[in-house]
Amino acid sequence: MKVVIDPGHGGIDPGAVGRDTKLREADVNLAVAKLLAGRLAERGHEAVLTRTADAQLVPGDRNRDLAARPEVANRLHADCFLSIHCNAAVSREARGFEVFTTRGRDHSDSLAAHILEAWRTLLPDIRLRGAKEADFAVLRRAACPAALVELAFISHPEEERFLSGRANQERMAEALDFGLCVWARSAGI
Ligand SMILES: [Zn+2]
Repeated sequence: MKVVIDPGHGGIDPGAVGRDTKLREADVNLAVAKLLAGRLAERGHEAVLTRTADAQLVPGDRNRDLAARPEVANRLHADCFLSIHCNAAVSREARGFEVFTTRGRDHSDSLAAHILEAWRTLLPDIRLRGAKEADFAVLRRAACPAALVELAFISHPEEERFLSGRANQERMAEALDFGLCVWARSAGI
């Protein structure tokens, strides 16, 4: 399986920032993406990151930066594209894991379902908000099955702490790895 993993944000765009420890979403996304890529490579899969440093793909241009990310998957003819993010809300009560695909029934829905199921199994301590659909530019432009995960809420006090822990980052990478591998098997990849 060839997977393109997209750690959301980077560089001048830190993404959401935690209120208690100033944890930066861009850093969590990159850490989990690197752990996930390592796991996939160990299983003999090809995992490519859209960024490996704290930088945007197209510095200073948010729209072109977002467009460039799925382009990596398209250029490499990847089997799937996974964008990794952390959620944030004005309310400090909002918490949990979500996985998004584009609107309508398509080849991405099964990918999202498998990731959700893997999360349910391996991370029962992080509430499941479910599989949702949204018109995210980063997903719309991907030619292959594509999903965007919101790992947890960086704006929730407990989840900010959860997201910063190395052992938890390993567990999140493990859940995503498991979901991707079960999906690939079901898709005959
Ligand atoms: Zn984000």
